Parts: sequence; C-alpha cells; structure tokens
Amino acid sequence: MKRAYVNPDLCIGCGLCVSTAPEVFRINADGISEVYAETPEGMQDKVEEAVSSCPVGAISIMDENVPADNA
Ligand code: SF4
Repeated sequence: MKRAYVNPDLCIGCGLCVSTAPEVFRINADGISEVYAETPEGMQDKVEEAVSSCPVGAISIMDENVPADNA
C-alpha cells in the first residue's frame, strides 16, 4: 500500500489536493494540508493527480513500509 506525504515546510495551503482527493488530504489546524488516510483502493490516480498539480511540489508518495519523518 502506498501512502502520500505532504511536506509541511513547502505546503502553502492552497487546498488543491483536498479538492482533488478529499479521501486522503485535509487542511489541518495550521492551515496546511496533511494526509489523514492511506490511499484507498482505486484512489491512486487521484493522489498522483494531486502530486502533479500541487503548485509547490509538496506532495510525495512513498511505500507505506518506509518510515516517514512525520508518521
Ligand atoms: S496542493 Fe500542495 S500546496 Fe496546495 S494544499 Fe495541497 S500540498 Fe499544500
């Protein structure tokens, strides 16, 4: 299973990823995007779309088995 990751130092809180894949991203209390769920079955394309449309390149996708520094 893949999991998305938002770099909080890069995210500007534009909300585009939340609009694209609300099942995975949400705006947190700091006003920036965070990943709150694993990428659901069938949502991989949407998450990849969010990655490519993020204006600051803040989103990456990693294998869930690799520890993330914000996990
Ligand atoms: S699209 Fe990028 S900059 Fe916009 S909220 Fe999502 S992660 Fe942040």
